[in-house]
This record gives sequence, structure tokens and C-alpha cells, in this order.
Amino acid sequence: MTNFTEEQKKQETTMEKYVEVYNYTNKILDLIEKQEISTEEAEWVTRQTVDNFRDHVNPGFLSYRKSVTKDGQFAAVEWKDSGLNCFMDVNGKEYIDCLGGFGIYNVGHGHPKVKQAVFNQMNRQALHSQDLLDPLRAMLAKILADITPGDLKYAFFANSGTEAVEAALKLAKMHSDRTTFIATTRAFHGKSLGSLSGTAKGVFRKPFLPMIPGFRHVHFGDIEMMRKTMEVCAMVGEDVAAVIIEPIQGEGGVNLPPEAYLKQLRELCDQYGALLIFDEVQTGMGRTGKMFCCEHYGVVPDILCLAKAFGGGIMPAGAIVATEEVFKSFFPNPFMHTTTFGGNPLACAAAIATFNVLIEENLPARAAEMGEFMLKGLREAADEHGDKVLEIRGMGLLIGIEFHNDEIGYEVSKGLFDKGILVAGTLINAKTIRIEPPLTITIEQAERVIAEFRNVLAQIRV
Ligand SMILES: *Cc1c(COP(=O)(O)O)cnc(C)c1O
Repeated sequence: MTNFTEEQKKQETTMEKYVEVYNYTNKILDLIEKQEISTEEAEWVTRQTVDNFRDHVNPGFLSYRKSVTKDGQFAAVEWKDSGLNCFMDVNGKEYIDCLGGFGIYNVGHGHPKVKQAVFNQMNRQALHSQDLLDPLRAMLAKILADITPGDLKYAFFANSGTEAVEAALKLAKMHSDRTTFIATTRAFHGKSLGSLSGTAKGVFRKPFLPMIPGFRHVHFGDIEMMRKTMEVCAMVGEDVAAVIIEPIQGEGGVNLPPEAYLKQLRELCDQYGALLIFDEVQTGMGRTGKMFCCEHYGVVPDILCLAKAFGGGIMPAGAIVATEEVFKSFFPNPFMHTTTFGGNPLACAAAIATFNVLIEENLPARAAEMGEFMLKGLREAADEHGDKVLEIRGMGLLIGIEFHNDEIGYEVSKGLFDKGILVAGTLINAKTIRIEPPLTITIEQAERVIAEFRNVLAQIRV
């Protein structure tokens, strides 16, 4: 047993051993409070960020940043929003955000109405006791029932996309008493173990095998392969609980399905008594030119997954919405699937304000219009560069530019970043970079993106 001296005991009680941590927290809290920071402070922030990433977060991030930026630009540290469609790094360089946090900024960066709703709710009550009925969750569930297509009616709230997918998978099992799931090649559904089972990319899955038993993958867009797989599953007594699919694949490189595919898929699911789960974490909330992407194809799923832009670019938030027929499996015991923070008052306030803004500013239609403008402009810019650009495709403001190889993609990303335009290499298909700006992007900003894309293409040697 250790005997503390009086001095040591005093130190323990006065928290003196934490004095350095305490001072560090004070310094950071001061910085957070400031709207403008000095050059010295900016240097301090950059040094601290780079050092701490190397020593305490993951040095791999620094290597990654070096691969997608020129010269010393890997150390660019993001600091604040600059209008709805741009942000600034700590040194005051402005970027047009064409990555949009992989599609979280549909209503823009820090939309005043969403911010205000969250502030107001925070000032009254940030989180709730968990036991009494909480009003905003109930009201948001009604909004979702009204705004989603078909007879989707009951909602469960989560904090992220992967959590929404987990809820969908558990609900499908609960409803069907079956354990087989079919997902598609190049799918991305998240990285927790359940959703990762549906995600398709080998490198992300391999170290964590085996996945949840019962998952199979078929080629995205291949209805015959889907049909045969369903048929075989039924023949061998492993009936399909659900098919999970993104109506348009995002991370996988912006892949659009053949026109009739989703309708045929709906029919197949009905034929075999399987549920259809649409993962609209990235395509929802107006991104593709309609409030939900499935509306383009006239197909209603049994379960719809939402996240990313659902929290208005202010709060982390996710949800599933399901038909009563399916969701009623959760009625007898509402504690069958729960999460402490899912559907918290701040997240709900943000989501409610997000739908308010999407409707008020007619953003789905704007996404369709601006998407067409950008798609046309980018295609024209790439016209003479068939040796570099393989294809440019997309719907609304979910646009993918596919190059002949990764190298060209990286060079284009670097060149654009240098000019203050942030784009995304997709996580699964590095040959394709994604353009997913806020739906509020202006014509002038879109024109600048197209012009710089044209310039960068001209500079690259293949
Ligand atoms: C991003 C994404 C997810 C995962 O969302 P997280 O919030 O990162 O867990 C799931 N599905 C799709 C389609 C996504 O784009």
C-alpha cells in the first residue's frame, strides 16, 4: 500500500497534477471564443494540430494529406465557415467546398436558420432526461412520415449513417425472422460491423472477417444476378430478409443504376418476401434534385436510411423511416433497439430546421438545376481531354469525374486545392473524384470551379 505524504495528498485534492492540461484547455477555450485570430495564434494552431495528429491522432492522416496537396499545403488547418458555400483555413485562405463533408452541407455551411434553431433549443434544454416524452423527436417523426414517399410512417433516430444502417438491419431481422441480406458491389453503408457487412470494399472488410453471417454481394445494377441469387437463397432455405442498396452509389464513385433497375428490384423483393432498404444517407435531403433520390425512380422502400445532411451540417444526426407493417415489430418492446443520444433535442432541432430550409429555398429543384449546369460545364471542360477523363456522370449535385487512373485524379485534386477548390477522391474508387457542393452554390462559384477544372486539366501531362 502506498502512503501519500501530506504534500502529495494536497496535490491530489487540488488537482495540481492537471495544471498543464488545465492551462492548455484554457488556451483552447480562448481560441474557440475568438472570431479572428492573429498570425502568431494561427501558427500556434497549425503547429499544435500537425504535432498532435502525428503523435496522438494518427500520423497516417498526414501522409494522406501529403498525397492530395502540393508543397506544404498538407498542413492546411480548417478554421471557419465563410458564407454558405466556402470555408477558410487558419491562414485565411478561402476554399469553395465542392466536397461538402461528403455530402453533409446540403443547406450550406452554418445556415443561419439551422444554427438559430440549435442555439434556441440549447438555451432551453440541450439533452433530455431520456424518460419523459420528448416533443421534438415526435414532431420530427411526423415530418418524416409526411415528407418521405409512399407509406413510410415510423422513425427511429440515430447519430450517424452507420447507426441508421444498423437500425435498418436489426429491424429487418426482427420483422422477417430471416438472416440473409443482399448488398451490392461498390456499396458503402458504413464501417461498424453490421453496416460493414454490407459495405463492399475488400480492404475495409478483410481484417475484420468474418462479417455478420448471411451477407451476400451481387453486382450493382445487374438485375439478373439479383434474381438468381434470390432464387438460390429461397431454394436452399436461406430466404432473404432484405436487400440493402444506395439508389445512386456515392462513395463507390457516383454510380447510377440502369433506368428500370430499382423498379425491377422492388418487384423481386415483393416476389420473394424480402424487404427493400434504401440507404439514402448521401442521396437524401435534396442532393440529387428531388427530396429523396428514390423519387426519381418511383420506387418506395420498406426502410429508408438517412444521415449526413439530415443534421443540416450543424449536428450529427441519422434516422430510419419504415412502413408500419415493418416497424411494428418494434412496438411490443420499444427498448429492443435504442441509443442514448439518437434523436436528442439538438439534433432534432437541426433536422427540423433543415427540412424547413430545404422547402423554403426550394433546394432540391436548385440541386437539379445547378447539377445540370455543372455537369454540362465540366463535360465541356473535359471535351479535349479524353486521354485523361474517362467519364463525368451524376444526378443533381452528386457528380463524379472518372479519370483513366488514380494518378490523374490525385493531380486534379491537388491542382484544384491549390486554387482554393476542395473536391473528394471517393474512398472506394480513387479514380473518381466527387463534386458535392452545398445545394446553395452560386452560378459564379460553379463557373469558377468549371474554369479551374479546365485550367488544371490543361496543365496535367499524362
Ligand atoms: C457516409 C455513408 C454512410 C455512413 O455514414 P457515417 O455517418 O459516416 O457512419 C452510410 N451509407 C452511405 C450511403 C454513406 O454515404
